[in-house]
Amino acid sequence: MFDQRLAVPFGKEPRSGARDGLYLDTSFDKLLRNAASLLFDRGVITRSLEGTKVNARQVRITCGQAYASREHGAALAAAYGQWDSRQVAAGYVGDVYKRLITPVDPEDVDDEIMMSKGEALVAARNQRPLLTGRGLPRLDEALERSEPKLANPAPLTPARKRALGKTNRNLHQGTLTLCLWQLEGAMCGGQAGPDFARCAPGECRNSVMTPGNRARYELMRRQYLTPDTVVGRRGAARLDNLNPDIKVEFADKTDDELRDLVKQQYDNWVAATLQVSQ
Ligand code: SF4
Repeated sequence: MFDQRLAVPFGKEPRSGARDGLYLDTSFDKLLRNAASLLFDRGVITRSLEGTKVNARQVRITCGQAYASREHGAALAAAYGQWDSRQVAAGYVGDVYKRLITPVDPEDVDDEIMMSKGEALVAARNQRPLLTGRGLPRLDEALERSEPKLANPAPLTPARKRALGKTNRNLHQGTLTLCLWQLEGAMCGGQAGPDFARCAPGECRNSVMTPGNRARYELMRRQYLTPDTVVGRRGAARLDNLNPDIKVEFADKTDDELRDLVKQQYDNWVAATLQVSQ
């Protein structure tokens, strides 16, 4: 959102045409509206920004996040928000600051991790009938243990998600599986936690797969076969041997439909996160 000609990497020569002050790139308005329209069309958010004129004040916190992820981002975020210290910034936007802008303290990072574990457990509960994998008994134990917290009808605040995460520290979200890590039966051989690079999704006693995980798995299997090579066929056969049901489940789905399933999983996650933080 800032004119990047401002950015001068520390200790380096200014870029050609570098500016000496903060200049807002006014195309941020278009960027936001386009992003909102995409999310609206996909049913992730309930309101489009069509016809709304967004000004810099309205998107101040979001701006902070965008600035903070760029070169000199922390300084830019502070300057734009007119915060003169991290403490002021934290007080100004409260929890949003911790959630959106660089969590730097180890406790902050730990908070984020616990919250994401809590979110993963809630998501697993919501789609329990659609899940597969040999880890289902371990998931059911975790759900049963947490049922009093999960069944609480009060809004699912960040604090509640953190509390759920703290009592389910062995939950780890991987690309192809949710891992309910226990040393016993861990097929990747990880000694202190999951080793996703050597994961055996579906087959491991710690693995639970969502429809989105399985769709991604099937896409990977198909990709191995295009183009048709000996190595590719071997890779596809390895995935097929591990989870023969997945190919059958998606036999009538095109690649695009599988991609839609994967995207749907992200959309659900974004929608759930937005709902909680409202
Ligand atoms: S094989 Fe996969 S599911 Fe099993 S413990 Fe390792 S990372 Fe977790």
